[in-house]
Amino acid sequence: MEYDVIVVGGGPAGLAFARSLAGSGLRLAVVERQPLDALADPAPDGREIALTHRSVDTLDALGAWAHLEPADVAPLRAARVLNGSSRFALTFGAAGTGEDRLGQLVSNHRIRRALFRTLEGQDGLTLLAGATVTEVHTDRQRATVGLSDGRSLTARLLVAADSRLSDVRDRLGIGAEINRLRQSMMVCRVAHEGDHGGVATEWFEYGHTMAMLPLNGRESSAVLTLPSAVLGEIARLDPAALGAELTRRYRGRLGEMRPVEEPHVYPLVMTYAHHFAATRAALIGDTAVGMHPVTAHGFNLGLQSQGTLARLVRAAAARGGDIAAPLLLRRYEMAHRLASRPLYTATKLLVSLYTDERPSVSIVRHAALRAAAHLPLVRSTVTRMLMQR
Ligand SMILES: Cc1cc2nc3c(=O)[nH]c(=O)nc-3n(C[C@H](O)[C@H](O)[C@H](O)COP(=O)(O)OP(=O)(O)OC[C@H]3O[C@@H](n4cnc5c(N)ncnc54)[C@H](O)[C@@H]3O)c2cc1C
Repeated sequence: MEYDVIVVGGGPAGLAFARSLAGSGLRLAVVERQPLDALADPAPDGREIALTHRSVDTLDALGAWAHLEPADVAPLRAARVLNGSSRFALTFGAAGTGEDRLGQLVSNHRIRRALFRTLEGQDGLTLLAGATVTEVHTDRQRATVGLSDGRSLTARLLVAADSRLSDVRDRLGIGAEINRLRQSMMVCRVAHEGDHGGVATEWFEYGHTMAMLPLNGRESSAVLTLPSAVLGEIARLDPAALGAELTRRYRGRLGEMRPVEEPHVYPLVMTYAHHFAATRAALIGDTAVGMHPVTAHGFNLGLQSQGTLARLVRAAAARGGDIAAPLLLRRYEMAHRLASRPLYTATKLLVSLYTDERPSVSIVRHAALRAAAHLPLVRSTVTRMLMQR
């Protein structure tokens, strides 16, 4: 079967890229190993995605935003960072920016469902669900992929969107910086007595990190980071015991908490591909850059990567050029490296500063928070980064 573009991975980055090529006249195949019903109606996975204004604009332009209900979107009005038992908080708000919120929180499965809906009836698109890519070969003329069911597909461009521990990336011979953090993150939607006021809290406490992301009504997403073995035990607690444990760890700031969904645990791995392109191939989404969730930028960057690549591909197709020309792929790589490397490096630094339990490091953390609070430029830079369009 011959196509112009094969996308491996029907996660949010792969689906958004497929939608970004709508109307380009290109024949497109999206290969996803999950079955069609899991793509059409994904199960909740506990992730609440903090979307920047730019990402909301992108999802709107792709037609996905219109598939979300108002109840699916929770405003993120401000964010505050706490260190240990200090009462001091570093706060970021939207004041003075002309917006009433820093960003919006939407569940990952709802984003995936909304993106899937945008693809219904898209001309030139073939969705191969329930199919796994097991072989990859590229040369100067074409890319060829083999599927687990024995089928073979060829295209002018192969786009890998198969997650941070990508098999396709390996098969393309592209290495990656892979940081396994020996910690996991548990996410659990909880109901609570207190009012969060739309404010997200990130609290670096001795022995654990806990974040509360404000959802609609008196609900939040409780996000707990701990060494993997300890967290596994907490995630296995029955709902009442889990609620009590989260309430205790959050020192009752929002009153009693009660889980309203199953908890989900994610081992933390940060990845950064050595290259974002190879002969007739490009990497997007987490396959290019797998961020730590602490700075809430993985999908935001993933959306940016697919948009950058799609613009270059569409422009080449419109002038009848090669959609996988080496110069085009190099331009994509340079643009996305520029967009992602500073944030990735800053996130790595933050993670090392906030996972080190030595008392001296806690003092550095505290000093860093206080310093940032007194440096309006730092605060406005972080706020701008969150709110950029
Ligand atoms: C707890 C948590 C909280 C997060 N919070 C935020 C946040 O607030 N803001 C933010 O921007 N980001 C956040 N993220 C990151 C965000 O969830 C990811 O960046 C995003 O889901 C990555 O999308 P993707 O499409 O690149 O990859 P994925 O979602 O991993 O999709 C990859 C797809 O490829 C398929 N696949 C894999 N291998 C094959 C194969 N060989 N053949 C066929 N198909 C294959 C998989 O089945 C999967 O569907 C968070 C992540 C976590 C874990």
